[in-house]
Amino acid sequence: MMAQTQSRAAKSSAAKALEKNLREQVAACTLLLNDLGLLGYSGHVSARLPGRDAFLIQAFDQSRASLKPDDLLICDFDGRMLAGPKGVRPPSEVFLHCEILRARPDVNSIAHFHHELTTVFTLIEGLELKIIKNHAVRWTSGIPVHDDPSHVSDPMLGRALAETLGPHHALLIRAHGQVITAENVPAALIDSVHFVENAEVMYQAAALGKVIPLSGREIQGFLHDFDRDRHIAKLWKYYAGIGRDKGLLPKTWKL
Ligand SMILES: [Zn+2]
Repeated sequence: MMAQTQSRAAKSSAAKALEKNLREQVAACTLLLNDLGLLGYSGHVSARLPGRDAFLIQAFDQSRASLKPDDLLICDFDGRMLAGPKGVRPPSEVFLHCEILRARPDVNSIAHFHHELTTVFTLIEGLELKIIKNHAVRWTSGIPVHDDPSHVSDPMLGRALAETLGPHHALLIRAHGQVITAENVPAALIDSVHFVENAEVMYQAAALGKVIPLSGREIQGFLHDFDRDRHIAKLWKYYAGIGRDKGLLPKTWKL
């Protein structure tokens, strides 16, 4: 009996430590995406709480430039706030996160933002965002465009968006923004950076002439030697280091 009680206490303390770490990662990811110009006055990052149908997300009107770990809310997959600071509410597009996390057990973190230049690729007839840069091979399976530009402000809209996303790792919402899905928070940051880099390069290249995307062979060649986990760890360290040096991220956060 005593051993069972001790084991329960150990599990609860491990879950708390994990949640603390996730809170610091989501806050860091948000502050960095804001600093990089991907996230502005709106947009959000979420992280699934392991073993629960719940996730961390910031409040509707919390500034993306000053988010702290304790500002984050815990929401369930119906968009209800289970825990959080008094007097706050989830962002109106919380259902985007609810329905993707519900439909995709492989996704543990989502970034949603409204990057203007990247959104251009949903506005021109016949123009499709292609795989131009090597790190964009993450989206070789496809980058679906969700036709409904509405804010994803109810469960039905969330389900429709999750359906458009299907098994893919990124989505463009027409005349609205981007959704990046990843296995963890650092990966959501790095994928977001690479997604926008790829769009910016295609935009610049298209201004000069006909764009030549990476071929299937080139993509396979790149993937042959690519270690995603190592790449994510390297770039997370790089961006977190910049954040610490700028005083954006407290040195006490264990990232
Ligand atoms: Zn949005």
